[in-house]
Amino acid sequence: MEGSAKGKRRWSPGTSQQPSEAEAEITKRARLSTEEPIARQIIIHRVSCSGEREYHETHPTTSHYLDIPAIEVSDHQNTALHGQNHVEDVEDYLEDCFGFSIVVFIDYDCEAYHERIKDDFTRLPMPSMPHEVRSDMKPYFRVLQRNGPLAEANGERLQPSETLQQALHALQGQNPDMPGEWDFDDDLVYPYPKLYHSRHVFAGTLIQTLEPQQQMDLEILFQYVNKRLALDYEKLEELSNAGIVSQEHWLMIFRPDDTVITTQDGQHRALTVKSCRARGQSILEMNCSSWEYDGNFFQKYITIPVQWPSKSRTVAITDLLVYPIRHATEGLEIALRKRGETFWSCRRRKYVSYDVPLLGLGSQLVRP
Ligand SMILES: [Zn+2]
Repeated sequence: MEGSAKGKRRWSPGTSQQPSEAEAEITKRARLSTEEPIARQIIIHRVSCSGEREYHETHPTTSHYLDIPAIEVSDHQNTALHGQNHVEDVEDYLEDCFGFSIVVFIDYDCEAYHERIKDDFTRLPMPSMPHEVRSDMKPYFRVLQRNGPLAEANGERLQPSETLQQALHALQGQNPDMPGEWDFDDDLVYPYPKLYHSRHVFAGTLIQTLEPQQQMDLEILFQYVNKRLALDYEKLEELSNAGIVSQEHWLMIFRPDDTVITTQDGQHRALTVKSCRARGQSILEMNCSSWEYDGNFFQKYITIPVQWPSKSRTVAITDLLVYPIRHATEGLEIALRKRGETFWSCRRRKYVSYDVPLLGLGSQLVRP
């Protein structure tokens, strides 16, 4: 990928994401004659509009482009956020691409973009017309006199090829750093914590037993994840070293199977993070597990909605309602680990696993 989802550059069509007819024909011939593995990532920009904002009623709910969308000079107040290279039918387009390793869907919100540029339109004089027509025509006389900024992404999701899905399934549980099981609904959503923390496996010796196309797909995934997240993790580390986390990098502070601390009824307690996803900008939904005892030991699975604790965009990590134990003060970490060891040393050999609601955290049950 040539830029980040929040990047200001346009992806130029006609390169990796839009093969020309000649390139496509070459790819097709190469595929047919040599069966060489295909190495391609495709980037598709996806604009959504709920149609609730004034003048957006007729906008398409979703539209797809090969370049970063924007509103341009001469567009008016009811022009939908759009790119230059429209993809009419995504499935047809992907079929015509003759194979890919990953498709990256980058999301934008038409109404949020219009809110951002609402003061940039110039009012042109309107000719006289009946009142009822005038109100309908008004947005056409509010025009942009120079190009608007490129839209900022509000989400990103990967779609893996079938061979890549097979490769990821083949690798699961094969290495301590690989997830025991993939959940593509969660794991393929930016910032891809499981993919990021297991990415070195995609380029290691473990993949050598896989098919050449599967190896190629993993290589493309490795390159994408590395490039896409390198700066984010650099920034995360820089802030973490100072004991701070930004709202932008909040989700990334949690690693797969991280031990985290929360407070329940005034008591600190430790949980293990199984997965984590953003629900809007200010809420994370965390699936966690913990060991409990009620005469028998059992593993409890809970889903915790966690609110960003401040109006500020950055907070001390220890001010988060849930945070990784590695960021706890030394005394607290030692005390919790000691308590856990004592608790664990009391366990019986046979465990019973079932779900029990965790009171006081507003939690919901999830099935293990
Ligand atoms: Zn719209």
